[in-house]
Amino acid sequence: MELSEALYRCNKCGFCQASCPFYQLTREEWANARGRLRLVREALEGRLAPSDKYALRLYRCFMCGACSATCPSGVPAEEVLLKTREELARKGFIPSPLEELGSRVISTGNISGEDKSLRLSWAQNLDFPVRRNGKPDFVYFVGCVSSLYPQAYGLPQSMVYLLEKRGVNYSVLGEEELCCGYPLLINGQVELAREIAKKNIAAVKETGAKVLITTCPSCYRMWKKFYPELLGEDNPVEVVHSSQWLAEAGLPLKPLEEKLTYHDPCDLGRGSGVYEEPRAFLKSIPGVGLVEMPLTRAEALCCGGGGNVESLEPSAGEGVAKMRLEQARLVGAKAVVTACPQCRRTLSRAARGSGLKVVDIVELAAKLLTD
Ligand code: SF4
Ligand code: SF4
Repeated sequence: MELSEALYRCNKCGFCQASCPFYQLTREEWANARGRLRLVREALEGRLAPSDKYALRLYRCFMCGACSATCPSGVPAEEVLLKTREELARKGFIPSPLEELGSRVISTGNISGEDKSLRLSWAQNLDFPVRRNGKPDFVYFVGCVSSLYPQAYGLPQSMVYLLEKRGVNYSVLGEEELCCGYPLLINGQVELAREIAKKNIAAVKETGAKVLITTCPSCYRMWKKFYPELLGEDNPVEVVHSSQWLAEAGLPLKPLEEKLTYHDPCDLGRGSGVYEEPRAFLKSIPGVGLVEMPLTRAEALCCGGGGNVESLEPSAGEGVAKMRLEQARLVGAKAVVTACPQCRRTLSRAARGSGLKVVDIVELAAKLLTD
């Protein structure tokens, strides 16, 4: 949809207020889609000159897509924000913490700025060697958060354990894996995202694998939706999220007598339409009670870790994560299961001392596997 068509389609009904986590935090009009669209329209019609303050209002957003999903007029606000950020990036208005994030991704190939030789640190204490090279059928694309943030190491460790146990011929890319480019794309640095997409695709092609599996919803969405859009060609591999693989794998599982709820990661649910597979896997666990939170599937509340907000305003996500956990408590869940390393990090931090457990679906599967 053209930018101007999207902007004029907004009838200012305000439905997006209730669904916007940033509005819930700030209670300020600029923070919901209606306010942000108004700002973009003012700039487009020449009544507002782009400035650092204007840019900040368009970057302080989880890019969760809840506004677009709940808008009765079908305004694609997330798309408007992406297009506007592209323009702001061209004019040099990326807020400096996000400019630094983009530079880290370009200079080191990852979001944390670590040396690429540390990309397999998570695999050091495994009981078996992680597979690298060979002629794999599957490439496991680990992603920056799982590769370089120790709190998330359990996720790739569990994924390779499951792949080993199921006899899957897989390989990781190790130092050849670069950030998927999602942080660049949502910074508005589209050309840089395109360059990194080309390099990742070349590395995966080189392996000869037919399937790419990832445990990260942002990597999944990037590979599945944005790489073909950026490059104007089909993916050279089938792209699968770990929750989809789990739903099909038919794993033999120990029973779990526990009341669980499932948190939909924004990039996996709203962003990619994967709602049922994680739930199908959870329902296949003998004895499990799966309860739904009040806001679920397309209406799910972001965990607070979305967009590049953690780099821009580190404390902003915590309030949203607490709201999400409150929804889990309301339905009597003892554990929140998600399918994303970033949701797991953000929700786990907010759950400290609450008695609520937060776990990734892959870690849960590895724990319950009977052999
Ligand atoms: S819900 Fe849609 S139409 Fe209504 S104010 Fe928000 S963006 Fe505009
Ligand atoms: S993408 Fe999410 S945080 Fe951003 S304006 Fe829409 S609902 Fe609010």
